[in-house]
Amino acid sequence: MVGIVLVSHSRALARAAVALAAEMAAGARIEIAAGLDETTLGTDATAIVDALAAADDGDGVVVLMDLGSAVLSAELALELIDDDLRSRVVLCPAPLVEGLVAAAVTAASGADRAEVAREASDGLLGKLSQLEPSVSVSPEKDAMGTVTVANPHGLHARPAARLVTEARRLDAGLEVRNRTTGSAWVPATSLSRVATLGALRGHEIEVRASGPRAQAAVDEIVAVAARKFDETPDVPHPGGEPFATGGRPASAGIGIGPAWRRASTPPDVPDTPSRGADVEWPRVVGAVAAVRREIDKIWEGNPEASIFDAHLLLLDDAELLGEVRRRIDGGQAAPQAFQGAAARIAAAFDTLDDPYLRGRGDDVHAVSDQVLRAMLGLSGAETAGDGILVAADLTPAEAATLDPARVKGVLLAFGSPTSHGAIMARTRGIPMVVGAGPAVLSVSPGITVAFDGGTGEFVIAPAEPVLAAFRERAAGLAERGRQAAARAHRPAVTADGVAIAVAANVGSLADARAAADNGADLAGLVRTEFLFLDRDAAPGPDEQVATYLELAEALGGRRLTLRTLDVGGDKPLRYAPAAHEQNPFLGVRGLRHSLAHPALFADQLLAIARVARETPVSVMFPMVSSVAEVVAARRMLDDAVAKAGPAEDLRVGIMIEVPAAALKAAAFTPYVDFVSVGTNDLTQYTLAAERGNAALTADGLDPAVLQLVGLVCARAGVPVAVCGELAADEAAVRLLTALGVRELSVAPPAVPLVKDAVRATHMNLTGSLAQRATGLADAAAVRALLKSVSLAG
Ligand code: PEP
Ligand code: MG
Repeated sequence: MVGIVLVSHSRALARAAVALAAEMAAGARIEIAAGLDETTLGTDATAIVDALAAADDGDGVVVLMDLGSAVLSAELALELIDDDLRSRVVLCPAPLVEGLVAAAVTAASGADRAEVAREASDGLLGKLSQLEPSVSVSPEKDAMGTVTVANPHGLHARPAARLVTEARRLDAGLEVRNRTTGSAWVPATSLSRVATLGALRGHEIEVRASGPRAQAAVDEIVAVAARKFDETPDVPHPGGEPFATGGRPASAGIGIGPAWRRASTPPDVPDTPSRGADVEWPRVVGAVAAVRREIDKIWEGNPEASIFDAHLLLLDDAELLGEVRRRIDGGQAAPQAFQGAAARIAAAFDTLDDPYLRGRGDDVHAVSDQVLRAMLGLSGAETAGDGILVAADLTPAEAATLDPARVKGVLLAFGSPTSHGAIMARTRGIPMVVGAGPAVLSVSPGITVAFDGGTGEFVIAPAEPVLAAFRERAAGLAERGRQAAARAHRPAVTADGVAIAVAANVGSLADARAAADNGADLAGLVRTEFLFLDRDAAPGPDEQVATYLELAEALGGRRLTLRTLDVGGDKPLRYAPAAHEQNPFLGVRGLRHSLAHPALFADQLLAIARVARETPVSVMFPMVSSVAEVVAARRMLDDAVAKAGPAEDLRVGIMIEVPAAALKAAAFTPYVDFVSVGTNDLTQYTLAAERGNAALTADGLDPAVLQLVGLVCARAGVPVAVCGELAADEAAVRLLTALGVRELSVAPPAVPLVKDAVRATHMNLTGSLAQRATGLADAAAVRALLKSVSLAG
C-alpha cells in the first residue's frame, strides 16, 4: 500500500489531521514528521527521512506538506535518502487536510502513488463546487483588474513585499504587469520578479488571477493598492532635512563622520568545485535558515523591523531559490550558485530607470551577502569602513572586527546597551548609540552623522553650529580623558583612603594590551569564550595554555581572572551544541554547560591549573545558581590541579549573576576566595528583561539589583567585585563602593575614568546615599538622586 507522510510545523495539527483522515479511511499507512517537539513549531528534514523510511513498504510514499519551510525541509529530506527510495517518493502540493483525507482514502483502496497524489491534489474540488458552483476551476486567468501606484517611491521594496505577501496568502495564481511600460506578466508571488516591473508612482499595474477565488483575489489586491500597500509615512529622506532625535546610550564618546553601511562589501567566494548536488543544496538550505534566524532575532521586540520584510521574502523567493537549484544541478558549488543567481536578479534592477527602485538591488545584495557569509562560515558582514557605521544591529563578532582607528562610531537602528555587541564596542572604545529607529537605515552613505554615545542624542546631516557643539563636547571629553590617563597607573583610592582595585574585562589579546596601557590593576574578567567561539573544534589544553600565557605577558604579570567557558544563551557553540531550548537564557548555559560537557571542562581546568603555576591566576565560574554546581566544579578543579601540579596562588571564585546566588551568597563562602557580580545578567534575571531585547530598558541601577549587590557584600564573607557594565558607569561607582564592592572590572578604555570616579568618592558620605538609593522605586529615581547630590571631594 502507498504510504503517506504528513509534514507540518505543528505536531498537534498533524495528529489531529491524521485522526480526521482515520475516520474516513482506517488502515491507511500515515507517518508524521511534525514540529520540533511536542509544542515547538518547526520542521526537521531528518525527521522526514525517518518518516519516509517508516511509511514505505515498497509501493512508495506520497508526501503532503503545510507551508513555507515544510516544503524546503521535504526537499532536503529527498536529498538525504538513497536513490532507490527517492524514486518512489512523490512530493504532493495538495492542501493539507483535504489532501490527506483524499490521499488516505485512495491509498487504502490500493491505488498507486501517482493516483494517490492526483486525488490528493484534487482534494479541494468538492469544497469548491459546493461553495461556488457557478465558478469554473479552469487554470485560465479568470479575473483582471488595474491599479495605479500611488506610493511616492513607486513599488519599491516595502510595498512590493506587501503585494507579494498578500499574493501568496490569496493563492490564486496572481500575476502582475506594468501596463505603463508594457512589461511582461510576472508572478505576483515572487518579490524579485515584482520588483523588476519598475513600477513608479502613477504607473498602471494590471493584475490577473485564476480559479474560483480569482475575482476576490484581484479585488483584494486593488484594495491593498488603494491603501498604498499599507506603506507607513515616509522616513526622513536620505540627504534631505537634517533630523535629530534620541536613541539609547551604549558606548560613551562622541561620534562624528560620514555614514557608511556594511552591505556594500561582498564576501570573497572561493573557486571550489561542487561536491555534488546532494552536498551543495543542503548548504543553501542551511545558510538560508541561519539568515532567517538572524533576521528573526532583530524582529524580536522590534515591531518597526518590518523593513526586513523584503529580506525575509527574498529568502523564500521561488525565483531565486529555483535558479540556485538549477545552477547546483548544473554542477556549480552552493556559494557560486547563490552568488550567480542573486547577481542576475540584482542586475535586473540596474536596468530600471528610477534611481530609487534601482537602489532596491541593494536588498538583493544585502541578503545574498548575508547568505554567502553564513554558507562560508564567515563571522559577519565586512566591517572595514571610515566614519559612522549605520546598521540594524551588530553581533559581537562584527563588533570585534571593527577598526577603531577608522570607525568613528556606530549608530544602530535597533540593539540594546547590554548586548554583547555593545559590550564589545565599549571594550574597543568605539562610541555607540542603539535603538535609533529604522529611519536611520535610509541615511545615504557619506551624509554626516554626529552623536553622543553617553547620552544617546544623534543628528543626521547636522547644521554647522550643531556640529560645532558636538566637536566642543568631544574636545571636553578628550581633555578629561587625557587628565585621567595621566594618573591611570596610580592606585585608585577614595578621598577617605579606601583602596578600590580597578580591573579590566578582557576578551582578546588586544584587550589585554589595552588593559595594561590604561593602568588596569588586574584582569578582573577574562571572557575565555573568545578562544572557543567561531570555530569548528574546541581548543585543546596546549593551545589554551599558550593563549592564557600570552594574555598574562601582555598584562605584564598582573593577575588574570580566567572565567571558565560561558556559552549557551546568546553564545552558542558549534561543536557542543545545546539541545533545542524553549528559552536558552534559562537553559543550559555558563557553568551548567561546562558540567554537561565534562571533557571540554576538564581540558579548560587543566589549562588553567597549568597556567596558574607560571603567573597569578584566579579561576571564576559563571552563571552559578546552586552550591552543588560549585562543589562539582571544585572537584574537577582539584583533579586538574592534581594533574598539573600544585599552584601556590590559584584563587577560586564565582560570578553572581542569578538572583538565587545573590540571596544564598553566604552558602558559597566555604568554597570560594572571592565573588564577582555580573550585573548584566543579574539585571536581566532580576527584572525578567532579556539583556539583548531592544524593546526593554532594564537598568542595573534598579533598586532591586542594588539591594542584591548590597546583600552579597554583607553576606559573602569574601571580597566582592563587580564586572558587569554597571561598574563602568561613573554615576554608579560611588554607590557600588558604598555597598561594599572593592573591585570594579570594566572595559579597558574605561579604566582611567573609573579610577577618577573612585578618587572623587567619599565613603563616609556615600553610606546614607546607598541606603536611600536602595529604597527608591526605580532606576530613574536612583539616577535623579545621584545627579542631585554632589559628593565630590
Ligand atoms: C555579566 O553578566 O554581568 C557579565 C560580566 O558576564 P557577560 O556579560 O559576559 O555575560
Ligand atoms: Mg554574564
